[in-house]
Amino acid sequence: MNPKDMNSTENGGGAAIETDVVIIGAGPVGLFAVFELGLVDIRAHLIDILDKPGGQCAELYPEKPIYDIPALPVVSGQELTDRLMEQIKPFDPTFHLQQRVDVLERLDDDRFRLVTDIGTEFHTKVVVIAAGGGSFTPKRPPLPGIEDYEGTSVFYSVRQIEAFRDRDILIVGGGDSALDWTLNLADVAKRLTLVHRRDKFRAAPDSVNKMLALVDEGKVDFKLGQVTELQGNDGKLTSVTIRDPQREEYVHACDTLLPFFGLTMKLGPIADWNINLNENLITVDTETFSTNVDGIFAIGDINTYPGKLKLILSGFHEAALMSQAVHARIYPDKRLVFQYTTSSTSLQKKLGVN
Ligand SMILES: Cc1cc2nc3c(=O)[nH]c(=O)nc-3n(C[C@H](O)[C@H](O)[C@H](O)COP(=O)(O)OP(=O)(O)OC[C@H]3O[C@@H](n4cnc5c(N)ncnc54)[C@H](O)[C@@H]3O)c2cc1C
Repeated sequence: MNPKDMNSTENGGGAAIETDVVIIGAGPVGLFAVFELGLVDIRAHLIDILDKPGGQCAELYPEKPIYDIPALPVVSGQELTDRLMEQIKPFDPTFHLQQRVDVLERLDDDRFRLVTDIGTEFHTKVVVIAAGGGSFTPKRPPLPGIEDYEGTSVFYSVRQIEAFRDRDILIVGGGDSALDWTLNLADVAKRLTLVHRRDKFRAAPDSVNKMLALVDEGKVDFKLGQVTELQGNDGKLTSVTIRDPQREEYVHACDTLLPFFGLTMKLGPIADWNINLNENLITVDTETFSTNVDGIFAIGDINTYPGKLKLILSGFHEAALMSQAVHARIYPDKRLVFQYTTSSTSLQKKLGVN
């Protein structure tokens, strides 16, 4: 589904929207939850702070390949999002983007009241929290005046590889994002330099080996050290100062800085909703993915349980089980018959394929 064609609203205020389910978070897991709920005849509204669906996949690594989605040997973060949007099209969810859910409280009739930061209000029987890492924001390096260059010369994510063509790029960091973007931008950059404070990396060993091979081929420069200062004018970076391990400082010319210092996981308002947490993650019952609050479920990266893996495929599984439990809550008198999409004509009707 093209985001342009999706059913979306950015309204605030007005009458409360009455619905069966509100999903907080339109990341890959929130999107797939629409599909699983749709199969059991439940429509959903989705709310997200971002201006587009896809969560981390669309915001942090839209062009990066993912290799562990079942039956898709390789798919980029954006393509996975687009495919999920296509898959949920029959269930026509309503998106409420660029809004953060701030208030979640129980109403007298046992439903929930949600209010976003722009005043959109929902009354719903069930809340599904698919909020990933909460309100995630990249960590800003402690470099004086860095804000002046953000969005012009300093970037914390790569939305479009082409925007970096022929730039003189300096990437800072030793984790997966720093190494992945070193590999992915080496061919488009005029020059690419990776700076890390030590020669040990947190990134996947395969990425480190590939980066070292590019260094051997002369396609990437690698320097040990730390960036201590930025130089430039009117938001345009011209150089940075690097301090090497011997504490010698030198000026390195570049026009683009990509610092990958990780993300701060800000749980945000979720911490105020009286839901049981363990180290800022929501504890759930793995049979239903219910939280300690009856009627509130949590799926995807935001939840925790013994053996939890923060993988997209885990979130998809959780969405399927959650939907069965939500059906039992919304239709207590209806028996849910387990069916395959391959052979059930009723499921195929819902999907518009029969
Ligand atoms: C660089 C990188 C590479 C990765 N590679 C892989 C991989 O190869 N394979 C894999 O399986 N996983 C990978 N992951 C992890 C994967 O992206 C996550 O597991 C997945 O995105 C979790 O999906 P989610 O829907 O639970 O949460 P998210 O994708 O985090 O989406 C949650 C959404 O909730 C929104 N939100 C949060 N709080 C609120 C609020 N109060 N109000 C409104 N909206 C809110 C956020 O804005 C966000 O859009 C990778 C992650 C990164 C960063």
